[in-house]
Amino acid sequence: MQPPSIRRRTFVVGTSLGVALLAAARHALAAKAQKADFGYRPSPKDGKSCASCRLFTATAPGKGSCAVVEGDVSPSGWCMAYSPRQRGDGS
Ligand code: SF4
Repeated sequence: MQPPSIRRRTFVVGTSLGVALLAAARHALAAKAQKADFGYRPSPKDGKSCASCRLFTATAPGKGSCAVVEGDVSPSGWCMAYSPRQRGDGS
Protein backbone atom coordinates (compact mmCIF):
# COMPACT_ATOMS: atom_id res chain seq x y z
CA MET A 1 0.00 0.00 0.00
CA GLN A 2 1.25 3.50 -0.83
CA PRO A 3 2.02 6.00 1.92
CA PRO A 4 -0.70 8.68 2.48
CA SER A 5 1.44 11.47 0.95
CA ILE A 6 1.68 9.64 -2.40
CA ARG A 7 -2.05 8.86 -2.43
CA ARG A 8 -2.81 12.50 -1.61
CA ARG A 9 -0.48 13.72 -4.39
CA THR A 10 -2.03 11.29 -6.85
CA PHE A 11 -5.49 12.52 -5.85
CA VAL A 12 -4.52 16.21 -6.22
CA VAL A 13 -2.83 15.68 -9.60
CA GLY A 14 -5.72 13.56 -10.85
CA THR A 15 -8.30 16.06 -9.68
CA SER A 16 -6.42 18.98 -11.24
CA LEU A 17 -6.16 17.12 -14.53
CA GLY A 18 -9.86 16.31 -14.41
CA VAL A 19 -10.79 19.93 -13.74
CA ALA A 20 -8.57 21.09 -16.60
CA LEU A 21 -10.13 18.55 -18.99
CA LEU A 22 -13.65 19.58 -17.96
CA ALA A 23 -12.80 23.25 -18.52
CA ALA A 24 -11.40 22.48 -21.97
CA ALA A 25 -14.47 20.41 -22.87
CA ARG A 26 -16.81 23.18 -21.68
CA HIS A 27 -14.92 25.74 -23.78
CA ALA A 28 -15.09 23.48 -26.84
CA LEU A 29 -18.84 22.99 -26.40
CA ALA A 30 -19.45 26.72 -25.86
CA ALA A 31 -17.53 27.77 -28.97
CA LYS A 32 -19.67 28.65 -31.95
CA ALA A 33 -18.89 27.94 -35.57
CA GLN A 34 -17.55 30.52 -37.96
CA LYS A 35 -20.12 31.90 -40.39
CA ALA A 36 -18.21 30.49 -43.35
CA ASP A 37 -18.37 26.99 -41.85
CA PHE A 38 -22.14 27.00 -42.36
CA GLY A 39 -22.22 29.08 -45.53
CA TYR A 40 -23.90 32.00 -43.78
CA ARG A 41 -25.11 34.76 -46.05
CA PRO A 42 -26.93 37.99 -45.17
CA SER A 43 -29.88 37.22 -47.44
CA PRO A 44 -32.67 34.62 -47.35
CA LYS A 45 -32.56 31.39 -49.31
CA ASP A 46 -35.70 29.97 -50.88
CA GLY A 47 -37.82 32.07 -48.53
CA LYS A 48 -36.00 30.76 -45.45
CA SER A 49 -34.18 33.13 -43.12
CA CYS A 50 -32.86 33.48 -39.60
CA ALA A 51 -36.07 35.21 -38.53
CA SER A 52 -37.94 31.91 -38.89
CA CYS A 53 -35.12 29.72 -37.53
CA ARG A 54 -35.41 28.26 -34.05
CA LEU A 55 -31.72 29.00 -33.42
CA PHE A 56 -32.18 32.75 -33.88
CA THR A 57 -32.61 35.26 -31.05
CA ALA A 58 -33.42 38.88 -31.86
CA THR A 59 -31.14 41.27 -29.97
CA ALA A 60 -32.12 44.59 -31.55
CA PRO A 61 -34.15 45.76 -34.54
CA GLY A 62 -32.51 44.19 -37.60
CA LYS A 63 -29.98 42.26 -35.49
CA GLY A 64 -29.77 38.96 -33.75
CA SER A 65 -27.61 36.17 -32.47
CA CYS A 66 -27.52 32.51 -33.35
CA ALA A 67 -27.04 29.49 -31.11
CA VAL A 68 -24.69 27.91 -33.66
CA VAL A 69 -22.96 30.67 -35.63
CA GLU A 70 -20.70 33.26 -34.02
CA GLY A 71 -21.28 37.00 -34.08
CA ASP A 72 -24.29 39.05 -35.07
CA VAL A 73 -26.61 37.61 -37.66
CA SER A 74 -29.30 39.33 -39.66
CA PRO A 75 -32.96 38.30 -39.39
CA SER A 76 -32.77 38.23 -43.19
CA GLY A 77 -29.73 35.93 -43.20
CA TRP A 78 -29.55 32.21 -43.75
CA CYS A 79 -27.09 29.33 -43.29
CA MET A 80 -26.96 25.56 -43.77
CA ALA A 81 -27.90 24.97 -40.11
CA TYR A 82 -31.31 26.56 -40.69
CA SER A 83 -33.90 24.84 -38.55
CA PRO A 84 -37.46 26.07 -38.99
CA ARG A 85 -39.49 26.91 -35.94
CA GLN A 86 -42.26 24.49 -35.25
CA ARG A 87 -45.73 25.50 -34.21
CA GLY A 88 -45.96 25.63 -30.48
CA ASP A 89 -42.24 25.18 -29.82
CA GLY A 90 -42.21 28.56 -28.10
CA SER A 91 -39.17 29.79 -29.97
S1 SF4 B 1 -28.70 28.53 -37.73
FE1 SF4 B 1 -28.30 29.71 -39.58
S2 SF4 B 1 -30.35 30.28 -40.31
FE2 SF4 B 1 -30.56 29.69 -38.14
S3 SF4 B 1 -30.32 31.62 -37.00
FE3 SF4 B 1 -28.30 30.66 -37.14
S4 SF4 B 1 -27.37 31.64 -38.94
FE4 SF4 B 1 -29.57 31.99 -39.07
